[in-house]
Amino acid sequence: MNTQAFNDRNVNDSYYMVDIEEYPTDGWGRFKRVIKRTFRGELFVGLWVVLREMLKFNIHTIQYPLEKMPIGPRYRAVHEMKRLWESDAERCIGCGLCEKICISNCIKMDTKIDENSRKEVSEYTINLGRCIFCGYCAEVCPELAITHGGEYENGSEQREHYIDYNGMLTPLEMMTQGKQQEFEGFGAITPHEDARMKKTPLAY
Ligand code: SF4
Ligand code: SF4
Repeated sequence: MNTQAFNDRNVNDSYYMVDIEEYPTDGWGRFKRVIKRTFRGELFVGLWVVLREMLKFNIHTIQYPLEKMPIGPRYRAVHEMKRLWESDAERCIGCGLCEKICISNCIKMDTKIDENSRKEVSEYTINLGRCIFCGYCAEVCPELAITHGGEYENGSEQREHYIDYNGMLTPLEMMTQGKQQEFEGFGAITPHEDARMKKTPLAY
């Protein structure tokens, strides 16, 4: 596996090394470096480099929370529950797979039979204080109903910080405006999934 992409992450053309010297390869080179560092006053050289970079006013610090870094599409933040585009109905069928696979045991759900004799989710909470955002629930969901969203500011003063079903569900007004964001990351089908799928033969 080529790990170059992982080693290079977050490093692009806007990053540059400040006054990096060649590393000495022999004893004479190392001796010269010791002499140079001893008599050149490395502390003041370092202070000069910092002052020189400050005077360029090329500031990279992010003023969080007023400014925020963009997050990757596969980032696993607070969960969202999706609706069907065709009917606006909830996608979750109450199968319970997400609750069973959760290794932190932080999903609690219950179902009941509604007036049309169909199963509906009556209770669904995720304890975000326990969740480790592993993504298993999103990966196992057969309906692409539970996904991770981009909301990562979920700090709380309460030890038990729950998120309930309606808090995660896409609001209906977002559906009418066509603003539901589909999940691009963990567990989502890839755009070329149709081509990769082997069709089941009709006669076997
Ligand atoms: S992300 Fe992982 S720990 Fe969090 S609810 Fe899903 S399965 Fe559980
Ligand atoms: S969110 Fe998905 S996996 Fe969990 S109960 Fe609903 S349909 Fe099943």
